[in-house]
Amino acid sequence: MARFPEATERVLNRKVCMKCSATNSVRAKRCRRCGSKELRLKSKEIKAKG
Ligand SMILES: [Zn+2]
Repeated sequence: MARFPEATERVLNRKVCMKCSATNSVRAKRCRRCGSKELRLKSKEIKAKG
């Protein structure tokens, strides 16, 4: 349910570290927490939630 479209947008504009799960800016090239480059966009998994 898209009750909070603004909040959803914010979430989608984040990258999540694959190693430590820290949330980084979408522009970040490295995790600010552990320095890993393995960041991925937090994507539409949210929609998959039942
Ligand atoms: Zn990290």
